Amino acid sequence: MILPGATLGLLGGGQLGRYFTIAARNAGYGVWVLDPDPSAPAAAFATRHLCAAYDDPPALAELGAGCAVVTTEFENAPAAALQALANDHGVPVRPPAAAVGVAQHRILEKQFFRDCGLPVGPFAAIHDADGIDAAVAAVQYPAIIKTARFGYDGKGQVRVANAVQAANELRANPGLLPCVVEQQLDLEREISVVLGRSVDGQMQCFPVAENRHTGGILDVSMAPADIPPALASEARRIAMQIADQLDYVGVLGVEFFVVAGGRLVLNEMAPRPHNSGHYTIDAGACSQFEQQVRLVCGFAPLDPKPGSAAVMVNLLGDIWRDGPPDWAALLANPHCHLHLYGKEDARPGRKMGHFTVTGASLSDALPQALKLRSHLGVGD
Ligand code: ATP
Ligand code: MG
Repeated sequence: MILPGATLGLLGGGQLGRYFTIAARNAGYGVWVLDPDPSAPAAAFATRHLCAAYDDPPALAELGAGCAVVTTEFENAPAAALQALANDHGVPVRPPAAAVGVAQHRILEKQFFRDCGLPVGPFAAIHDADGIDAAVAAVQYPAIIKTARFGYDGKGQVRVANAVQAANELRANPGLLPCVVEQQLDLEREISVVLGRSVDGQMQCFPVAENRHTGGILDVSMAPADIPPALASEARRIAMQIADQLDYVGVLGVEFFVVAGGRLVLNEMAPRPHNSGHYTIDAGACSQFEQQVRLVCGFAPLDPKPGSAAVMVNLLGDIWRDGPPDWAALLANPHCHLHLYGKEDARPGRKMGHFTVTGASLSDALPQALKLRSHLGVGD
C-alpha cells in the first residue's frame, strides 16, 4: 500500500492528469508530472513538473527514483518508457506497460479483443505498403482508415467510400501505416464503461454512459445511459473480462458501438480515466480520478454508488471564436458544474473544458444541458 505522503509519478500532464493530480493532492500525496509542455494543465497542481520528453532517460530515472508508483494519463505515453520505469528503475507501473502497449496499438487491440472471443466489427490490418491491396479488398465500404498508433479525437482517421479510394489514400499518406481499415457501421448509439480494478483483482464499474460524437470528438455524454439493463450488464461484463485478461490495475475506459438489434461491438479501450467518465467528478459517490489514485496506490476500488443523473458537454476551442464564452449563463444554472482546464491557446477542436448538468433523471438534466450547449454555440 502506498500511503499519503508518498509521491506518485504521472506520464502526461493534460486535463486527465490535472484531475488525477488534484485528487492525489487532495488525499495527501505528492505528484511529479512528466510532460514536455511547459504549460501542461496538470503542472499547476503538481508538486514537481519534469518538463522533458516522455522517453527522456534522465527524466525517467528521476521519476523512477523519486516516485512510489508511476501511472499515465494518456494512451500515447510510450509503452517502452513505462516498461523502462518498471524494468530498469524498479518502480511499480500501474496500469502495467503491457496493457498500455495493447491499448495504444489499434491492430494489437483489435486482435486482443478477437482472441478473447469478444465482438469486434469487420476490419483488416495493414502493416506495410505490400499489404494494402489485399486489405482494402477484404472489407466492405464505406470504411474508416485508422492509423494504428497516436490517434485521438478522430485524428489519424480517414473515411473512404471504396477500395480504390482507400488504396489511393494509403499510397498518398504512407504515414497512416501501420493501420486498420474498418467497415463503417450503422450505429444505434455509442456507450462506454469506465471501471476500476485493484492489484488483487477487485472491480467496480461506474454507471454506463451514452456518448454522442460530433466530427469524431466526444460531444455529449449522459449517465446512466437510457438502455435496457441487460445491455448495460453485458457491456460491464465485457469490460471486466478485458480488465481481468490484461491483469489491469487502475481505471479503464471501454468504448462500445450499439448496432442494429441492440448488439454490442467493441470500438476501443483507453488505459486511463476516460472523457466519458468526467461526469463522475460531479455525480455519484466518487470520481474516476479519486478511484485511479486509490487503485494505483494498492487500495480496493470505492463503490461508485450511482447518484444523480448527469449530462456532460465538452467545450472545444471553437467556441472561443468571438472571445470568451458566456460563462455567466452557465454559472447562473444551479445544476451546472463548469470545468476549465487552464489551457491558454483555444484552438478549434482542442478540449478546453467541459460542463456537467446534474439532475434527478436524464429527462431533467438533458434539456438543460442541451440548452446551455446551444447557448454557447457548441457544435455550430
Ligand atoms: P477518441 O480518442 O475520442 O476516443 P479516436 O480517435 O480514438 O477517438 P475512435 O473512437 O476510433 O477514434 O472513433 C471516433 C468516433 O468515430 C467514434 O466514437 C464513432 O463515433 C466514429 N466511428 C469510429 N469508427 C467507426 C465505425 N467503424 N463505424 C461507425 N462510426 C465509427
Ligand atoms: Mg474513441
